[in-house]
Amino acid sequence: RPSDLDGLPAGVAGHLEGEGIEAFYPPQEAAVEAGVTAGESLVASVPTASGKTLIAQLGMLSAVERGGKALYIVPLRALAGEKAREFEAFEEYGVSVGVSTGNYQSDGDWLGSKDIIVATSEKVDSLIRNGADWVDDLSCVVADEVHLVDDAHRGPTLEVTLAKLRQRVPSLQVVALSATVGNADELADWLDAELVDSDWRPIDLRTGVHYGQSLHLDDGSQRELSVGGNRNQTSALVEDTLADGGSTLVFVNSRRNAESAAGRLGDVSRRFLDGDEREALADIAEEIRGVSDTETSDDLADAVERGAAFHHAGLAREHRELVEEAFRDRLVKVVSATPTLAAGVNTPSRRVIVRDWQRYDGDAGGMQPLSVLEVHQMFGRAGRPGLDPYGEAVLLANTHEELEELFDRYIYADPEPVRSKLAAEPALRTHVLAAVATGVARSRDALLEFLSGTLYATQTDDPERLESVTDDVLDYLVANDFVEREDGGLSATSSGHLVSRLYVDPMSAAELLHGLEDAENPTPFGLYHLVARTPDLYGLYLRSGDRERYTELAYERETEFLGRMPSEFEENQWEDWLAATKTAKLLEDWANELDEDTIAERYGVGPGDIRGKVETAEWLLNAAERLAGDLGYGNTKAVRDARKRVEYGVGEELLDLAGVRNVGRKRARRLYEAGIETRADLRNAAKPVVLGALRGRRRTAETVLENVGHENPSMADVRADADAEAAAR
Ligand code: ADP
Repeated sequence: RPSDLDGLPAGVAGHLEGEGIEAFYPPQEAAVEAGVTAGESLVASVPTASGKTLIAQLGMLSAVERGGKALYIVPLRALAGEKAREFEAFEEYGVSVGVSTGNYQSDGDWLGSKDIIVATSEKVDSLIRNGADWVDDLSCVVADEVHLVDDAHRGPTLEVTLAKLRQRVPSLQVVALSATVGNADELADWLDAELVDSDWRPIDLRTGVHYGQSLHLDDGSQRELSVGGNRNQTSALVEDTLADGGSTLVFVNSRRNAESAAGRLGDVSRRFLDGDEREALADIAEEIRGVSDTETSDDLADAVERGAAFHHAGLAREHRELVEEAFRDRLVKVVSATPTLAAGVNTPSRRVIVRDWQRYDGDAGGMQPLSVLEVHQMFGRAGRPGLDPYGEAVLLANTHEELEELFDRYIYADPEPVRSKLAAEPALRTHVLAAVATGVARSRDALLEFLSGTLYATQTDDPERLESVTDDVLDYLVANDFVEREDGGLSATSSGHLVSRLYVDPMSAAELLHGLEDAENPTPFGLYHLVARTPDLYGLYLRSGDRERYTELAYERETEFLGRMPSEFEENQWEDWLAATKTAKLLEDWANELDEDTIAERYGVGPGDIRGKVETAEWLLNAAERLAGDLGYGNTKAVRDARKRVEYGVGEELLDLAGVRNVGRKRARRLYEAGIETRADLRNAAKPVVLGALRGRRRTAETVLENVGHENPSMADVRADADAEAAAR
């Protein structure tokens, strides 16, 4: 039990026991025996929801107690806040916690004063590139969901970050948490770590496939559902679980499917609600509507009122949190989700249904089966220890052949081994530049030496392949003036340093610089198109009808494009160009003050996606401005203005006002309509006009005046000017 352990900060063991951790789970005990509280590196490969977080906490807390500092690397930005809140419970025992999120590099020094730091691998990588020296004080680093080194897009950053940290601090303790994978021993080899490899779970898991009227289970048994008839399989299973007092998590393969499934499943769950539940759900639905006035928000609220919900990465954070909480509180009975939910959020449920076992994959050009590892992670969300007698996870089959295929493919199969994706060129491009710019590698040999500390090097049986891609990448960086090669030595140019610190893909930076080189008076649309064609901002998908629509638009606005427009015969480039045109148009609509709902509908995206594109564009335009400034280009002001317009989502005439805190795009427009056009106007305006333009909201008006530096912002006894109020409606 926790109180038997030496080396934790005083009070922590008691706290853990108070939280219900009375005895360690077997994998936790094995981790302690392997030395996790004594500074030993460890790979813990155990199923979802089997207590990995506690293993990490034991490592970090004992490191802090020895006077060290710990870093917890989360797989998703959305999880950083959640993990930090979890660890903040230890602040009471003198352990300080800091979380670092966001695109910009602002909070480095403040972080250095914390005992436990939570961040994504991208953020850690960026902090290192920008010279964070607290990295040298680390004694323990946790890599959560380390099997994600297998991810083609994000894996290499995690891999390289771990290699860098270990190079900086040779004695560093690495605690790597992994789902059960096929080759945990290789991960342990790579990290010179002890291994805890277990498939123990705190609650029994039954897995199976539903076909026809029956559930076929992994122990060979077969059982009829309590509800018969010709119902849709998912609905029948959800109803069967509800009849037994349990909740269901349904995994589907797209956001759209998650939304439509929740609509349908609400017809089932609504029949199982009692009066109190209906009331509580109506309150939550109201809260959901209050987050934003979009269609997604409305659909979600409608579903929640009926005891169902959907969950995906396109939702606003507040929406996601409300859904998770309502599901944990057992008010929402069924959630349809995309697989992101399986990855981190702790939302167990009696039954898990993996409805879609295939997903559209653009790179592979069609539907592809999910990996065993992914499906088993979804399975792992089944069963709430202490609440359910067991968890049950099922796949759905339409034919007898499919029933057999699913058993072979997922039920009886072992998860795949994790393979490094570092040798892919885009990944190496950015990490090689960073290694050169930060002085980790001052020569080709030093670079190869550094790369030999990666999982890739541990796994490859063809070391020449890494050498040859590295050489290609170096050639690319030299050709684009980011790196200089002299007498066998490597150094970064001024642009190269800047690109590494700004954390943009060198290929994005090259694209931005080529586009800006001869652009005298770039328009916002031209600049949005430029950033939309960089690899850092994936363009929107073209849907049916889009090709014609955006071809027309591309010719109409041809003179605004920066750089050479491909011809329609260069098919791939043309397709990318149109996708960027669509994205640029979305950004322009946003900067022209179109409301979010209209944009969401016009482009077939969720409000979360709009924010995502806007933030990324803002970040890339900031990078573009800095790069252009560094090379002395004369168009930095145009770039800055275009950036501010997407940042605030307003027309040029509102830039001054929208920058005032608490004003924002809608209020800026209302003030403007009432004749208040600048910050100076706002300071000098008659208070009744300000109050009227802000629709009579006194508190808001006072805050706004305060933020603009008004001497006496009080609105006591002020009456809203009727004309201004009418203009604001
Ligand atoms: P994982 O990270 O492996 O997916 P978590 O660490 O989130 O799983 O643990 C799942 C749940 O189990 C959490 O609610 C946690 O508080 C609880 N838990 C972990 N260890 C124990 C334990 N030894 N005794 C009781 N509950 C535990």
